Amino acid sequence: MDGHDEVSGKLYEFLGDYWHGCECKARADEDLREARRKRTEDRLAFIRGQGFEVEVIWECDYRQLLKYDTEMKSFVTGRLPPFCRSYPTCVTAEQIVKSVLDDTLFGMVEVDIRVPDSWDEVVVDHKPDTNLSPYEYFKK
Ligand SMILES: [Zn+2]
Repeated sequence: MDGHDEVSGKLYEFLGDYWHGCECKARADEDLREARRKRTEDRLAFIRGQGFEVEVIWECDYRQLLKYDTEMKSFVTGRLPPFCRSYPTCVTAEQIVKSVLDDTLFGMVEVDIRVPDSWDEVVVDHKPDTNLSPYEYFKK
């Protein structure tokens, strides 16, 4: 989950089009997109089955909102960290290193998540070596 409202108990999930198999992403490998979509739907059904209310938004819908809803766009861009305002699209390794060196980018989060083995087949094209420390991972 990407967000949680402690007062209402409601959960929020941002679904990236590629990783969650949005139908807007026509792919050569349609089986993989459908597998990702099913995995997402199964996971959300499980969470909802535990009694949680989950609000989701697809990446493509979010991008449309930012295009046409000026209030939303202003809200989002006004909260971006300086690094993201400087590089609103993709960044290069050199830009990241420069920003770390001049103290405009800092911080790291390590997340360890174990997913069911049955999910392995849908993440084979980007499977990190989970035995590495963050330092070893980025060094590699
Ligand atoms: Zn989409």
